[in-house]
Amino acid sequence: MNLILFGPPGSGKGTQSARLVQKFAMTHISTGDALRQAIRNKTPVGLRAQSVMESGELVSDDIVTDLLRDIIRPLREETASFLFDGYPRTVAQVGNLEKLLEEFHLPQPAVINLEVPDETLILRLTGRRLCASCGATFNIYFQPTRQAGICDQCSGPLTKRVDDDPETVRERLRVYHAQCLPVLKIYQERGALYSIDATGGTDEVFKKIATIIEENY
Ligand code: AMP
Repeated sequence: MNLILFGPPGSGKGTQSARLVQKFAMTHISTGDALRQAIRNKTPVGLRAQSVMESGELVSDDIVTDLLRDIIRPLREETASFLFDGYPRTVAQVGNLEKLLEEFHLPQPAVINLEVPDETLILRLTGRRLCASCGATFNIYFQPTRQAGICDQCSGPLTKRVDDDPETVRERLRVYHAQCLPVLKIYQERGALYSIDATGGTDEVFKKIATIIEENY
């Protein structure tokens, strides 16, 4: 089984992916994480992607697809299922993923779509804080730390993702509606789309996703 966790920025794809790979034997691939790593490592891909990501736009289909191929190739032999988080994000990427999966003799994916209204997404993203030491995630509106700016788990300093500032968040949501939403229609027509209300707490959303997987795969 290959699954795409689809949804706007801030819908909880990363959080849910981390839990899903613990329960189901799946390998998580986040193109956003891979791009951030490329930026940290100052690779040629990272250098090309950095300013695009910081502006809230999408990195080019070719760059992200080549990156994805490079991630899948070494994992292919040891992994039965992939959980794609943040890919595909455009109609062109749907076709690219299809070809990639064929190339690696992997089954075509189903999509779980996390639905969250924009007002909630704006608070989730602009309020998001990450621990620079242990990576724990908090939110100044929904899950504040005991002491402002300090991680509850390891006392490390909290940071913000550069693309979580209000202006870039607005742009990311605009891009999502314009370029990413059309992806859903394709999977809907293929009968491979499951949409859920993802406004609830992490546990509640996780249960909904797990039920879909258990009932269908
Ligand atoms: P994410 O962590 O999934 O929110 O992704 C952060 C940023 O990485 C996005 O705003 C895009 O600039 C870039 N990105 C991640 N995945 C893709 C993709 N599949 N296609 C194009 N750009 C992507």
